[in-house]
Formats: sequence, C-alpha cells, structure tokens
Amino acid sequence: MAKPVTDLGTQVQFLKGVGPARARSLARLGVSTVGDLLAHYPRRWFDRTSARPIRGLGAGQDATVLGEVLTSSERGTRRGGSLLTVTLGDDTGVLFCIWFNQKFLAKQFRPGKRVMASGVVQMHAGRPQLAHPDFEILEPEQPDTAPGLHTGRLVPVYGLTAGVGQYWLRSLVRQALDLLGAGLTDPLPADLRARHGFPDRGTALEHIHFPPDADRREAARQRLVYEELFSIQVLMALRHGDRRDRAGLRLEKPGDLTRRLVASLPFELTGAQRRVLKEILADLRSGRPMHRLLQGDVGSGKTLVALVAALFVIEQGHQALLMAPTEVLARQHGRTVAGLCESLGVTVETLCGSTPSAERRAILAGTAAGEIDLLVGTHAVIQADVHMPRLGLAIVDEQHRFGVRQRGRSAGAAADEQAHVLVMSATPIPRSLSLTLYGDLDLSVIDELPAGRRPVATRIVREKEEAAVWQACRDEVAAGRQVYVIHPVIEETEGQDLKAATVEYERLRTEVFPDAVVALLHGRLKAKEKDAAMSDFAAGRTDVLVATTVVEVGVDVANATAMVIHNPERFGLAQLHQLRGRVGRGEHASRCWLLCDRYLAEESFARIRFFAEHTDGFALAEEDLRQRGPGDAWGIRQSGAPGFRLANPLRDAGIVAACRDDARRLLAEDPGLAGPEGRVVREGLAAIFGNYLPPQAG
Ligand code: ADP
Ligand code: MG
Repeated sequence: MAKPVTDLGTQVQFLKGVGPARARSLARLGVSTVGDLLAHYPRRWFDRTSARPIRGLGAGQDATVLGEVLTSSERGTRRGGSLLTVTLGDDTGVLFCIWFNQKFLAKQFRPGKRVMASGVVQMHAGRPQLAHPDFEILEPEQPDTAPGLHTGRLVPVYGLTAGVGQYWLRSLVRQALDLLGAGLTDPLPADLRARHGFPDRGTALEHIHFPPDADRREAARQRLVYEELFSIQVLMALRHGDRRDRAGLRLEKPGDLTRRLVASLPFELTGAQRRVLKEILADLRSGRPMHRLLQGDVGSGKTLVALVAALFVIEQGHQALLMAPTEVLARQHGRTVAGLCESLGVTVETLCGSTPSAERRAILAGTAAGEIDLLVGTHAVIQADVHMPRLGLAIVDEQHRFGVRQRGRSAGAAADEQAHVLVMSATPIPRSLSLTLYGDLDLSVIDELPAGRRPVATRIVREKEEAAVWQACRDEVAAGRQVYVIHPVIEETEGQDLKAATVEYERLRTEVFPDAVVALLHGRLKAKEKDAAMSDFAAGRTDVLVATTVVEVGVDVANATAMVIHNPERFGLAQLHQLRGRVGRGEHASRCWLLCDRYLAEESFARIRFFAEHTDGFALAEEDLRQRGPGDAWGIRQSGAPGFRLANPLRDAGIVAACRDDARRLLAEDPGLAGPEGRVVREGLAAIFGNYLPPQAG
C-alpha cells in the first residue's frame, strides 16, 4: 500500500501505523480521511513549555515536571484491579504518579530514567500526586528543553475512543501534517485572507495542532473558525438572494375564515402572537416567497399562529402543508387542527408513514384534485408522489429536528410552486448561531407565554423520597389531572432501557396507581398503538402515561400537571426543557420531579440543579451550549451542517458577523461565483453541500 498521501481526501489507512482495526477505531471518531484527521481538532492544549520544581506544587495546578524515576511498584487493588505507583524526584522533592489498571506501563519506568510528566496536581497525604499523567520518557541524549511531541510544549489533547490513545493519535496527526501540511490548496480567496491577516491553511493546521505559542494558536483558530462559517454563510446568502429574485404567490387581505377561527377560540391571542402574525401576513402579501423562521419557547402557541397563516392561504383558494418531525406530533396536530377547522368547512387530512395504502391513495387523490385544503403529516407529505397543485404555504414544525439539508429539500419542494415557507422551532438559539444556521430565513419571535401560565415547580428528589412523589401524583389524579412518567431510552442501551420502562410501568399500574388508568408509550410500539396511547391520554381516558422521549417534542395536553423524570442526568438540558414543557400548558399549577436513584458526578448534578432552578428556555440553551458545545447541544452534527468543530457561536459572534458581511459582499460583486475568487469559493461549497446548492451556484 505505498500510495502516497497527497491530499485531504486520502484514506487514513495510507498513513503509517493505521491498519484495518485502527481505521475502524478512528471511524468511531468520525475520522476516515486525512482531512477528517486534521479536522479532529484538539479539545484543549496542555501548557507544558517549562517544567516546574516539585517543591511548591499545589493542588489543582496543571503542571509539567521533569524528574528521574526513583521507584516503581505495582500492587492489586481491592476491586481486583492493579495500581502502578511511580515516584519521580528532582532537586527539590518527590512526586507520586499513579495509574490504575495500566500494568503494561510498568516496564517503561525503570529507575534512573528521566521522565517528563504533566497533569493536574492532587495533594495526597500532604504529598503531590499526578493521576494518569501524560508523560514522555526522555532519551539520554535529548536535552531537557527540546520540545517533544507530548511534553515541553503546548501539547494537544484530543477526544479519544477505544483503540485510539492520546500518544498514538498525536503522532498520527504529526505524520499527516508532515506529509501534506504545506501543499494544501486554500479554500479562502487570497485577498480575503490578506484582509483579515489570516495564516494560510497549512500553517493554520500546524498551529492549531502543535502551537508554537498561544498567539499563533489563536490566529490559527480564528482562521479555521472563519473557514467553517464562511462556507455556510455563502450558502445562506445564495439561498436568500435566490429567493429575493423570485416571484412569490401574492395574497390579498385576510377574509372571513381567519376571523372566524380567532373568534371561536376560548382565549385571546397574545400580543406576541398577533405581532408575528402581522409579520407573516405582510410576507404573504408581498409578492415574494416567504421564508421565515418562527421561534418561540415551548408552550408559546406556535401551532395556532401557523394555523391562522394556513387558513389565510386556504381562504384564497390555495392549499397548505403542515409537517412535523414525529408521527405522534403529526397526529396530534392533525387532531387539533381538524377540531378547530370542523365548523369552518376546511378539509384536513393526516398522512404518515404508517397510513394504510388504501387511505394513502385516497388522500393523494384528494390533494392532487385540490379537494384537501390542509395536509398534515410527517416527512411522508413531501414524498415524490404527493402533489399539491395549489400549494400556497408549507409549514415545518420543530424544524431543528429535521436538519439543514432536509429543510432545504422541503423548502425546495415548495419553492417550485412559488409557495411560502414557514419553519417553527422551540429551540431558542443565540442570535449568532441563528444567523449561521438560518441565515437565509427571516426571523419572527414569540417572546411571551399565554397569560396565566405559571412556571413548573421543579425539584430534585432522591430515591428515598419517591413515595412522597407518587403520593403527590395520586393527589393530582384524584383531582382530575394527568401525569407523565418519563424514562430515558438511549440508543446504546435501548434494550435494557425499554425493559426498565416496562417493569416500571407494571409496578406503577399494579402497585402505585391501582385505581388509575396507566398506559405505556415508547418508540418500539406500532404507529397505531402509539397513536391510540397518545389520543387516549389527550382525551383524558388515561390518567398516567409512562413514556420514553417520544413525547419530547410538541405534545400538548393542557390537563397534564405532573411529570416525573427518571434519571434526568441522562438527558441534555435542551431535551429536559422540551420534556418539562409538556406540563404547565394549562390553567393549573404544574410540578416536575427529577428522580435521581444513583450517585451523580458533580458535573451531572450541577447540570440537573441548573435545570431545576431555571425555566427560561434561552438561559437553558446557553448553558447547554456552554457545557456541550454547539455540535451536540444543537444537534448540528447530526443535522448535516458543516462547521462548528471549532466555532463557538457565543465566543465567535464577531467572526460570524464578519463572515456574513464578506459572503454577502462577495455575492454582490460576483453573483454567479464565476470570477477568480468566486470559483475558489464555489468549489469549496460544492465539496461540502453537493446538490443542496441553489441552481445558480450549481
Ligand atoms: P408550542 O409553541 O410549544 O408549539 P402550542 O402551539 O402547542 O405551543 O400551544 C400550547 C398550548 O397553548 C395549546 O394548548 C394552545 O391551545 C394554547 N394556546 C395557544 N395560544 C394561546 C393563547 N393566546 N392563550 C391561551 N392558550 C393558548
Ligand atoms: Mg409545538
């Protein structure tokens, strides 16, 4: 396999030391090409530029020490593991280094060897200690100050997985950089780079992995962040410009239908709902296709806004589409909307993946003939055989669940018809991030909850308080209210989790709520069973719903006032917020208990406590972002959007703004991306987005 490593697209197997097994391990980190490897940026860097004397080390310091091995010993632990203890000495004192279950290291630490070790200092019985330090054995001729790969410098620390160790990965990155660092083509046009004073790509990659100093690392980081964000900003600017030049369906003044709907409601629209409706109606009458993001916290009443917009379109002889990310949610929307539309003479149908084929055929015939005014469903509604000849408005609910690419597709399907597009999301995102992900959309925000909503009182409870929690739940049921009991089910442990949920369901049904109707809802049920469980609960035929996260998005049952969440530490903050948003939707005060039945690590506990103390979605979202980074907090990694490996929308707001300006300026000067700069950018885009580009840039 002597194929030379020539570009970023080369498979990692062509690097020295990577066989099939290592390649599989690397794949778990999302690394399959050399480019992926170089974009597997360090999570942080240890500053190991100079060794410190052992005497004077204090707890909590991130320190590098240069010493000689004095002793090395190994013993068994009570739990059946092994403990390796190595003592290092310098002129000032003695340092203990310990490793659990790493027997194989022992032979490296022969007394007399010189070792550089770094890590965070702990004080143990008054003596400094490093647990599992990073270390490097110095060769006899190696001067103490030479920057090695692993010590004596700013050392990259990477995210790892089984079969991929820190040392090995560092050496692999080094090898990749040596092979092609300088010869890389740069996706950023040269004069743009010059304007910002950015280093070229090879230099940036070198300096992000192995920084000569902190300043040059930061310069490299800024350049790479810019590069990540620039491509998506150009795409958004292209989409935006593309739509602005297109004629859209122009609608007239609202008529009778919307007025009758609003009059039939048992409540008044909030001021915020009225304001965003005005913004939407202005778009619908503008003669250009609307592409608007409607953002509003859970329970802020987005569905109703969407329905008013849909009726406005329908009363002028057009059709509308409402798409939801899950079947549970789609069917709920179908029921709500059908109920509200019944007396208005508007025909509503619901189409999901599980819709029986005869019914599906009938619905397709109805939409094609223009007899169905409003089609509600999952992504089944944008399959190729669904024709809505008079489609005027496509609404996408809980948009963050669909991802950027799918949004492009659903919007694209609608755009052929010059239709308007409204996407809705409960996820409050910092403005700099929404500029990035939704830079092609106009934004409306519902920043007000319906009157009378009270924050959900949230408490962390331990196992021993469980009985009191169930008693409180029984009281709710006795008062005619309803209860959710939530179980985490995650992919890796799905079987076990489902079993736990089922066992708990049996116990709740027979022992805890013997007099109530208890039902179970989880993702493995057939669509019909899920639908039945949901509609029974919505109609009040069930008192207690034991459920997994299938109720997480959008489910709306105003009579539910209590929620018990098992093992809350297994959920992210945003997810917990979505879950808790299922209660507190009506006039009654609501409560949420976070049931922790095991000892939580400090970090997990802090997260849960933050959640218990905050109800504002925006505060929770920012905290989530701080803790997990944007990739995971926003599902961006799964969404198919590039970027956000290095970029942090909170810290890098300035770069986001600069990118957006640069992207718009570039397109203003060179709309077809045909000039010398434009071509560089276009190639970069095509590599990332493929056929998701709007036609003019294809
Ligand atoms: P979300 O924004 O989370 O999608 P929903 O659209 O599901 O919220 O609305 C939550 C609940 O609030 C629904 O039961 C809805 O009928 C109700 N609702 C909507 N608007 C108002 C309002 N202006 N006043 C009172 N209740 C409202
Ligand atoms: Mg909703």
